[in-house]
Amino acid sequence: MPKKIAAGNWKMNGTRASLPDAMAIAATPAGDCAVVLCPPATLLSQMGTEGLALGGQYCHPNASGTHTGDISAPMLADAGATYCITGHSERRADHGESDADVCAQTEAAWSAGLVAILCIGETLAQREAGETLAVLTAQLNGSLPNGATAENTVIAYEPVWAIGTGKVASPDQVAEVHDALRAQVGPEMSLLYGGSVKAGNAAELFALENVNGGLVGGASLKAADFAPIITALA
Ligand code: 13P
Repeated sequence: MPKKIAAGNWKMNGTRASLPDAMAIAATPAGDCAVVLCPPATLLSQMGTEGLALGGQYCHPNASGTHTGDISAPMLADAGATYCITGHSERRADHGESDADVCAQTEAAWSAGLVAILCIGETLAQREAGETLAVLTAQLNGSLPNGATAENTVIAYEPVWAIGTGKVASPDQVAEVHDALRAQVGPEMSLLYGGSVKAGNAAELFALENVNGGLVGGASLKAADFAPIITALA
């Protein structure tokens, strides 16, 4: 059975004032579900790991070097992370990261012992053109390195048009994509859905056969919002 994972991506949000929320999230009963928080790197080493796994939001392909402002996978691991998001659409858009870049970052995450949460997703224009499955297959083929296993990789399907917009993909849309991904990656790898997951829609999404959890943005910042999502999965 794929592992159930409730992952929170805090993006560029959060200061030390947010640490009590992380503690309250960690204290939420999660049953057999793993709870992962990916805060800004500045908070990683300040968050406890009791009841919680930590993740980075990006890693450079190299372990160290002359790359001002960047962060490497061994640094994330040293700060307490055991996961790292790779290929988030905001990184692909803001920093021009290509599938090849994401592939190299994912390998770097593995080398540091981190589980990669590799994100793929189509734009609204691609969906409306009927290209969704072709786009996702191409992204997966281009960004998932050889050697991916259920132990070192989690796939997150995040339709770009559903991120931060309040427009959640319908259960039918999510099921179609996740069933196709399942056929591609095998029976054990965890498949997460991300894009406007909220307490009010989480249970319906998590009930889908090939949805093993969520990658949650805005609704993961506050324990009051994230706790019911964890409960819906646990
Ligand atoms: P929202 O949950 O805010 O739509 O963000 C989703 C996301 O991008 C998580 O990585």
